Amino acid sequence: MKIAFIGIGNMGGPMALNLYKAGHTVTAFDLNKDACDNVRAEGVSIASSALDAVQGAEAIVTMLPASQHVEGLFLGNGHGLLASIAKGALVIDSSTIAAATSQKVAKAAEAAGIAFIDAPVSGGTGGAIAGTLTFMVGGSDAHLERARPLLEKMGANIFHAGSVGAGQTAKICNNMLLGILMVGTSEAIALGVANGLDPKVLSEIMRRSSGGNWALEKYNPFPGVHENAPACNGYAGGFGTDLMLKDLGLAQENAMVTKASTPLGGVARALYAAHSLAGHGSKDFSSVIKMLQKQA
Ligand code: NAD
Repeated sequence: MKIAFIGIGNMGGPMALNLYKAGHTVTAFDLNKDACDNVRAEGVSIASSALDAVQGAEAIVTMLPASQHVEGLFLGNGHGLLASIAKGALVIDSSTIAAATSQKVAKAAEAAGIAFIDAPVSGGTGGAIAGTLTFMVGGSDAHLERARPLLEKMGANIFHAGSVGAGQTAKICNNMLLGILMVGTSEAIALGVANGLDPKVLSEIMRRSSGGNWALEKYNPFPGVHENAPACNGYAGGFGTDLMLKDLGLAQENAMVTKASTPLGGVARALYAAHSLAGHGSKDFSSVIKMLQKQA
């Protein structure tokens, strides 16, 4: 299949590569030159613009930071990409954005004869590289079935959450829980270390006890515990603090509208906001442990 992939950063880069390795013809584009160079080095063609990338594409996958990037790309104040995508093509947006933005773009896509699903992911950069992501899809059964062969090349679990926007709602529920769990895990490890415990031993005890969670399994915030976690790489790469802050903000916005009670989500958002203001917005979100630990 001829695929355009737009947004080839920490997540989109390895996802585009997995589609390419599966034998698809992938043309990618990103505003960031380094992101383009990384993927080009693996053999993927890089277009000179998003407009160029979508020429003749049967499927378009996007992996962009936030709502404004997705809306700007596809709708762009009346000059968006939808006008240049072939009728009948399929758009898979895997960015984590507001459900209302997915619905707005989907409506415009439908009017232009283009299929659209929201398909945000979980699993981190490790999952993107390994092709084991979890996809949370919002859209019609028919559109999901068209997307499935591509999603299967990038992920191991594909869930149909409901109509357009439902994938995004599932994703912000998950990420609100992840944000809370990362703060809680950091707090517990920092407390143990302040009492002289070895972070590796403590983490293993909690992993196998009732406090076990994904951060303790795969993404320990303390340096030196999980070799491949961002904590062992100066908190570079991974999932940026500002992206977590965005997701916690989306969850709080949603809770305001639905009058849901999400007190811990609110506290977690405030902690990540303070961490970002302290200059750590581009570091992996597990670096939040720094604000809970005595610094040398
Ligand atoms: P990233 O910042 O590494 O990559 C995003 C890329 O989009 C950047 O390279 C940027 O230059 C590019 N971009 C922005 N606007 C563009 C445009 N108009 N045209 C072309 N390229 C454009 O971010 P990421 O970590 O890859 O995350 C992408 C999305 O996936 C976010 O919505 C994030 O919340 C979500 N997500 C991230 C992770 C993770 O672990 N990093 C996990 C699950 C979901």
